[in-house]
Amino acid sequence: MEILRTVEELRCWSRSRRRAVGGRAQRIGLVPTMGALHAGHLSLIRAARAASSDVAVSIFVNPTQFGPQEDFARYPRSFDADCALARAEGADSVFAPAVEEMYPPGAATFVEVEGLSDRLDGASRPGHFRGVATVVAKLFVAAEPDLAFFGQKDAAQVAVLKRMTADLRLATEIVVCRIVRDADGLALSSRNAYLSGEERRQALALSRAVRRVEEFVAAGERRSCALIAQARDIFAAEPQVRVDYVALVDWATLEPVETAVVGSLFAVAAWVGATRLIDNAVLG
Ligand code: AMP
Repeated sequence: MEILRTVEELRCWSRSRRRAVGGRAQRIGLVPTMGALHAGHLSLIRAARAASSDVAVSIFVNPTQFGPQEDFARYPRSFDADCALARAEGADSVFAPAVEEMYPPGAATFVEVEGLSDRLDGASRPGHFRGVATVVAKLFVAAEPDLAFFGQKDAAQVAVLKRMTADLRLATEIVVCRIVRDADGLALSSRNAYLSGEERRQALALSRAVRRVEEFVAAGERRSCALIAQARDIFAAEPQVRVDYVALVDWATLEPVETAVVGSLFAVAAWVGATRLIDNAVLG
């Protein structure tokens, strides 16, 4: 497994791998991450391994997607362990640039997906999706991947990035992978490492709320107000958890919908202590 540090190295790696080998066209798969890899990330690498001839995993804690009061400085970083995990899942390269490599001095170019970037997480994290879209666009331009793998866990991010790739007419196909959870239902997240034992217990309110809504949909409830009320009841039983949003939206536009249909996104975000967590379900 190669460790790549510069955009030029990533571009050369991708282009050299893409050249047809023995007449067989190569498919480059990219898995963008911020490191602190867990089983959710590994599921993306596995999906990439299964669908691509060559897999690059990027590990970059992207400063532009963090607000000034957010956890950029203390975000968990575990590069050596991450590389061992990526290698064990069959990654062919890890791209781990310095901040100045992705944002050269004087960098003034950003990618803004208008409208979508202000909804759900974008509403409470101004500038977050501008940072995400910008860094992912840079990764796509450098790696020229055929496929890029993202988790449904960050469902609003998926909507923003699908819009971006469509708008910029990029050739990369976005593949969305299901949410990986702990045995008790908590969606895996690098930020779960911040939780105390008691906070981790409280954090189960998110997955419980999502599951409750899925159960009500399975039982025939479709009204947004009723589904949101069910989720809010779960949060009300855990008063230490501060709800950011509970929403039923169209997954493509992130606009609220009155009635759930197949493919609607039910999403929640909440603060557990100082840690902001998210969870969701795509309704069947
Ligand atoms: P992050 O390192 O948090 O930026 O996440 C990198 C990628 O892993 C994103 O596409 C996330 O959606 C995805 N991811 C994070 N947590 C999970 C999870 N529990 N299940 C599946 N994918 C996940």
